[in-house]
Amino acid sequence: MAQAGVTRLLVTAMPNVAWLTGFDGSSACAIIEPDRVTLVTDRRYADAAEVLAADGGLTLAMVEQTYDETLAVLIRAGDEPMGVEAGHLTVQRQRWLAATLAAGGWRPALVPTLDVIEAGRLVKDAWEIERLREAGRLISAVAVGVLADLAPGQREQEVAQAVEAGLRRAGFTRPAFDTIVASGPRSALPHGRASDRLMVAGDLVVLDFGGVYGGYCVDLTRTVVLGPPTDEVVRVHGAVAEAQQAAIAAVAPGVAVGAVDQAARAVLDRHGLADRFVHGTGHGLGLEVHEAPRVGPARPATYPPMSGTVVLPDVLVAGMVVTIEPGAYLPGWGGVRIEDDLLVTATGAERLTRVPVMLSVA
Ligand code: ZN
Ligand code: ZN
Repeated sequence: MAQAGVTRLLVTAMPNVAWLTGFDGSSACAIIEPDRVTLVTDRRYADAAEVLAADGGLTLAMVEQTYDETLAVLIRAGDEPMGVEAGHLTVQRQRWLAATLAAGGWRPALVPTLDVIEAGRLVKDAWEIERLREAGRLISAVAVGVLADLAPGQREQEVAQAVEAGLRRAGFTRPAFDTIVASGPRSALPHGRASDRLMVAGDLVVLDFGGVYGGYCVDLTRTVVLGPPTDEVVRVHGAVAEAQQAAIAAVAPGVAVGAVDQAARAVLDRHGLADRFVHGTGHGLGLEVHEAPRVGPARPATYPPMSGTVVLPDVLVAGMVVTIEPGAYLPGWGGVRIEDDLLVTATGAERLTRVPVMLSVA
């Protein structure tokens, strides 16, 4: 907050509220001030909020009419400007708050900020790491089971259902995103959600799924061929597996995320597949399945620099949890992606997911 130039901050992004307060319902805000953190929620969550407030030393504010009316009252109670999350608060809400506060005679400003709480979420603490470790172990077991059952004659959607049933049995609250089962030519779609396509022998199958465990997300991909692989499948699968190994080997504290991405990209380039790798090498994991840091090529700033911005580091730091998931996609033919989750440690990386990288099943 000091970096963003504010002493008060209105937090409206739910994952940020959850990270700050432990609140896991669907509606709440938080206000951080020098002497207190106020959890703002409504009557549906009264009991849970009271427990959190007592355990976590939070001040509680219950919404009577609307969230924004309650927020206006809380903001007006202080004389200092209030930071707002520019990446999350809608223009509509920001305008309503500003107009209402001004009409009530409050003169300080609402100050846009960026990435204040995200900067805190970037490096996981021991409690978060324990959850992510356990989630990684559990999702690996689900993957091993699903891969063992994969066979021609199944529909993609049936496989997705098996994945999601496996996640629930393993103790996950829900899938972290719509399960991707992309077979045959559809495997060339990097985000091919499961369809009713019937899988046949010789198909490449990209299986990419995630689970939420104790609030924390893990994410895993394997690509296998149903039956004996063709030479081209062997070549592309081998290149992606090699790219993933190279990127994993590059993961260590102090290493630029761009260098990790480049490690994967250089291998695919050597195999003539650089232009088939159409996404970044990975992403951070935590309360959201895609969060900072982005493990991708160094990117020029798209937006003019904004005051109130906390600049997130572009190097890996011990305690970050990231995916490494290079891929190669050949339209009309198929695609391969292999994804694992890693914890950056003091000396390198610890794998959170452990599933054999197999070329072929069934
Ligand atoms: Zn994934
Ligand atoms: Zn991912």
